[in-house]
Amino acid sequence: MLRLWGVDSMNDLSFETLQDLIANFSIVTAYLFLASQVIYKDWNLGTPTTLYTKLHIGVLTGILGIILMEFTVKLNGTILDFRNLAITIAALFGGVYSALVTGIIISLMRLLAFGTLSPATIFAAFNTLIISIILGWICTRNLSYWKKWAYALFLNNLFTIIIFHINLGSKGTIPSFIYLIMMTLGGIFTAYLTQFLIKAKTHFQMIEKAATFDFLTELNNHRTFDEAFNSLLLEAKDKNEALTLMIIDIDHFKKVNDTYGHPNGDTVLKQLGKLLKDASRSFDIVSRIGGEEFAILLYDCPHKHALIIGERIRMAVRNQEFMLNEGKVIQITVSVGVATYPDTNENIKGEADKALYKAKSCGRNLVCSNQFT
Ligand code: GH3
Ligand code: MG
Ligand code: MG
Repeated sequence: MLRLWGVDSMNDLSFETLQDLIANFSIVTAYLFLASQVIYKDWNLGTPTTLYTKLHIGVLTGILGIILMEFTVKLNGTILDFRNLAITIAALFGGVYSALVTGIIISLMRLLAFGTLSPATIFAAFNTLIISIILGWICTRNLSYWKKWAYALFLNNLFTIIIFHINLGSKGTIPSFIYLIMMTLGGIFTAYLTQFLIKAKTHFQMIEKAATFDFLTELNNHRTFDEAFNSLLLEAKDKNEALTLMIIDIDHFKKVNDTYGHPNGDTVLKQLGKLLKDASRSFDIVSRIGGEEFAILLYDCPHKHALIIGERIRMAVRNQEFMLNEGKVIQITVSVGVATYPDTNENIKGEADKALYKAKSCGRNLVCSNQFT
């Protein structure tokens, strides 16, 4: 057995216990990290809606339970393990069904490991199932995260201590005490880690979304548009395909803001974003690239066809009734500039801008090409 450097006064038993605890905490940490990053892409607290997900959580957490059973903690002649932490994790994320599946896996493993069916092994398996149901039930109650953990740990400890005393009588006092401390420490550690991983993941997803999409219209933002534009232009050059850029700008939008207020202007922008998305092909890339300026990238779309699509969009906007916040309905128009690579040079952004400028100066509510006058 390994020894701490120079710590001879520490007896083997306590050092081994420390090793066991570190091993168990490391297993829980690794499992939670893998679960939050790899296994469950959308791992969130709460009871999942589908039975499949509940079973999935139950099975995967059951595997954690088996590993924790293998890595026992030895202290003062008592051998204990953290299997009930796995049941609590399953209960927390999947509710009663997940906890029960985890409990069944742990119980089966215990029966198999002991080889024979004896009253003691059946009793232990039965206890595990009862604890699974209790913990699953607690975690589906409308309680705060920390209350769920507190109740789960309390009932788990109480139940286990009762079992120890039924099995061991007065000899069960020391194991009960050790279990109580061990499980409370393990529980607090797991609760903190789980909460941290969920928060970190939620914040990461929020930042990723904010960096990719426009918060108002939920379309791509300028940055995502630029990335898509650069990669599609490369692909178009590579494969000798056409790439069309359509820039759409609301006519006299300042008037909408001035007349109805900025919040109503935002409502119009939101509805226009949805209209543009609905009017485009599923694989076209629709983005909000400025205040009241939108862009659509149409891959493998010849110029003439793009002009027809542009006209369809212009008409759709023209005919749309935009509902303001107070229920009033207004209509707006858009001007559209269209440019296509390779008909024009690589600077299709500049060319589409020129076409848009043409549409504005020719009276607005128009689709203009950079090619035709
Ligand atoms: P034009 O037909 O020449 O495009 O006229 P316009 O009024 O649409 O253009 P201008 O560039 O003069 O004004 C754009 C307006 O868009 C001004 C600004 O208040 C408004 N705008 C820009 N971003 C937002 C936004 O996020 N929300 C709202 N409500 N308005 C915005
Ligand atoms: Mg405008
Ligand atoms: Mg503008």
